[in-house]
Amino acid sequence: MLLFTPGPTPVPEAVRQAMATPTLHHRTPEFEAIFKEARERLMNVFGMDECVILASSGTGAMQSCVLNLCKKKALTINAGKFGERFGKIVTAMGKELVELKYEWNTPASLDDVKNSLETDSDIDSIFIQVSESAGGLRHPVEEIASYVKSVNPKIMVIADGITAVGVENIDVSHIDALVAGSQKAFMLPPGLAMIGLSSHAVDVIGEGVDYYFNLASEIKKQQKNTTAYTAPTTLIIGLNAIFDEMEKEGFDALYSNTKTRAKATQGALEAIGFKIYPSTPALSMSTVIDEDAEPIRKLLKGKYGVNIAGGQDHLKGKIFRINQMGLIPVNESAWVINAIEMALSDLGRRTFDGTASRVFNEIYYKKGA
Ligand SMILES: *Cc1c(COP(=O)(O)O)cnc(C)c1O
Repeated sequence: MLLFTPGPTPVPEAVRQAMATPTLHHRTPEFEAIFKEARERLMNVFGMDECVILASSGTGAMQSCVLNLCKKKALTINAGKFGERFGKIVTAMGKELVELKYEWNTPASLDDVKNSLETDSDIDSIFIQVSESAGGLRHPVEEIASYVKSVNPKIMVIADGITAVGVENIDVSHIDALVAGSQKAFMLPPGLAMIGLSSHAVDVIGEGVDYYFNLASEIKKQQKNTTAYTAPTTLIIGLNAIFDEMEKEGFDALYSNTKTRAKATQGALEAIGFKIYPSTPALSMSTVIDEDAEPIRKLLKGKYGVNIAGGQDHLKGKIFRINQMGLIPVNESAWVINAIEMALSDLGRRTFDGTASRVFNEIYYKKGA
């Protein structure tokens, strides 16, 4: 079965092997050397001044950013499940909330953000997804971040990059915290959350708040290549192993391959009559809105050996999402698109003629030409 859900993503064989080694004690020079290596490589991918690794799912990192970087009132962008989650966390942590809500195919508007900041001077932080996975949407994060900083550099900009870090080069010039998670573009099992931080964010964190999610105590320890509590040693070994794989061709190649694959998939889907759901598609996944989304997913899983994701809430049964994150062999993506065309034929919607594969290959192999 090909796992083509936009998280979790498949774990490559070399990474699984690396994680199958005997357990190390975490308070040892051996593990500290491994941690140091992972931390330096992570800092390089984030392109930021500081980073923190947490043993939690991605939501733990989102919560720790709310706790440590929002003092009073947060502005959140809700264009899907994950943006909605930021709002719920803010409320659960007892902070004030202003939420901008959008349909799940619609990116946040800069004008709305401007309006909120102009009318409410208590807002001290803004929380937004780079790629909102609920509808496969890309928000104009860089533009919004740059505007926010031009109005008031003290306002913290927190970007959830869980389906964007490792997918594309994100301009972090105006971002204070960028969140990543292990089970998406990093092709690791779930359980590791990572945050890139600006030096301004480190200042704002100060002494930190909370106990487990106190970013100040983690930063202090992690600067010494250790962790406040027991480190997820296996996953950190895995992180170095996936970096080994990704660095073989380098991150520029990874970003460029991901982009070309996403464009080729989108072109192929459109060529066989599908409609792409988001108005600004993220590169992390290809999202189609279609009334046969569920029958197509069932055929893919039962007949063609491909597992893709559906939709949630009001989009349940209405969309399907194909993963583009990670080191994906291009022949697998080509098979997925071909299987979708065959499923359309099974449903009697279209006579199979190989259009999807042809268009996929044309777009993919024209890259750089
Ligand atoms: C997967 C995901 C998360 C984190 O979810 P966890 O289940 O807590 O790991 C957060 N934001 C986005 C955009 C995601 O896709």
